[in-house]
Amino acid sequence: MRELDVVIVGGGPAGIATALFALHADRDLANRMVVLEKATYPREKFCAGGVGMRADNLLASIGLRIDVPSVWVSGVAFAAGGKSVEVRDGTIGRVVRRKQFDHELARAAADRGAQIIEGARVTRVEVDRSRPHPVRVETSRGEFRCKVLIGADGVGSQVRRALGVPGGTFRAQALELDTEPLDDDFDRDLLVFDVNRRDLNGYYWEFPTVIDNRQMVCRGVYLLKSNRPEGDVEIRDVLSDELARRGLDIDNFRQKRFGERGFEQHRAYATANVLLCGEAAGIDPITGEGIAQAIQYGAVAGRYVVEKLDARDLAFDDWTRTVHRRHVGVDLRFRSLGVPLFYGAYRPPVEQFLLNNPQFVQVGLRHFAGKPWGTSAVVSATSRAAWYAMKAVIAGRAHHAAEMAK
Ligand SMILES: Cc1cc2nc3c(=O)[nH]c(=O)nc-3n(C[C@H](O)[C@H](O)[C@H](O)COP(=O)(O)OP(=O)(O)OC[C@H]3O[C@@H](n4cnc5c(N)ncnc54)[C@H](O)[C@@H]3O)c2cc1C
Repeated sequence: MRELDVVIVGGGPAGIATALFALHADRDLANRMVVLEKATYPREKFCAGGVGMRADNLLASIGLRIDVPSVWVSGVAFAAGGKSVEVRDGTIGRVVRRKQFDHELARAAADRGAQIIEGARVTRVEVDRSRPHPVRVETSRGEFRCKVLIGADGVGSQVRRALGVPGGTFRAQALELDTEPLDDDFDRDLLVFDVNRRDLNGYYWEFPTVIDNRQMVCRGVYLLKSNRPEGDVEIRDVLSDELARRGLDIDNFRQKRFGERGFEQHRAYATANVLLCGEAAGIDPITGEGIAQAIQYGAVAGRYVVEKLDARDLAFDDWTRTVHRRHVGVDLRFRSLGVPLFYGAYRPPVEQFLLNNPQFVQVGLRHFAGKPWGTSAVVSATSRAAWYAMKAVIAGRAHHAAEMAK
């Protein structure tokens, strides 16, 4: 059995970023901290691999550049109501293969002294606060005791279950596959989001990608589970229809399906000695974007844990509040509040608004990229949003009055 200060469960972007930022704050932590990863790198992670530049910028702030084959992107194509709009803003991010990206990230952390134990699946977590190392972690590669346990073990988080935090209400499913590019595809510098299917509480996507030096396209469907009385559409059927419209047969491709978990602002993500980070806590419920958020969470968690160890205060009663106040938490709270706008009764006017107001999409792109939003862009986008909302309210009232007069 090993006794340590910090055990991080999960060697995805959240776990590795936590280790990197903790080591950046305290290099000496290297021999008192381990990352436990159940798989062996390079390991597959079902994911479309779209990473906003804000993640690269954050890693660059600690002198790190993750060099893997990437398709650099400069904007989005947004399709709704039979129309589409393309919005660009210079380089906004890239599309990576997670197998390569996560492996490289882990290698960079190991180079900086992080101890990463691969093939170590955590099977049980127990806390006994009467001991100096209160957390006992059972794994397929032996037992560990630690003062701090960080659950960065993704959507199926064992640590979250051990904490007794419920699974969450924003649960999503995503199904994806990779095909050759097609003549009618959008340009390869765009991430495509298509919300034409109103019966889908989500969207169809196309991301340019590169696999073994071949230009390919990752096509997929994201579904945020709803409580529609008739139930949700089956995402395989949606993806199959989208492919058929493009002359492709879904059965000819390897289909990759996985769950996702959205962030909920009224949940606590820690108890004494244990905290959750990355998708174990929750990511963007509207789009399912989670890589940049995982790295942002890691940056917050790494520094937080070093401060708390120094202060000998491991109650972690302000972890959730700390996340809420940081960039990642403000962003995720905003997005979780936006779920009813995107997937509720206001969906048609919101889609129309986005189609007709590319400045608003541009602010979103700048946010994704980690660029300054620009005061004039924000003023213009918010004033248009306010004007649009007012028109929608007036039209709604007029409609209501006409109905009452009948
Ligand atoms: C189909 C699909 C497409 C997606 N596309 C995008 C996209 O284009 N852009 C984007 O930003 N996000 C995307 N996401 C979301 C993104 O993949 C996740 O939000 C992100 O990986 C979360 O990072 P994480 O480090 O928190 O968790 P993960 O990346 O899931 O890492 C968790 C790690 O913990 C390990 N682990 C799990 N359980 C244990 C255990 N018991 N013991 C030890 N180790 C364990 C796992 O092996 C894994 O390495 C997509 C998700 C899906 C399903």
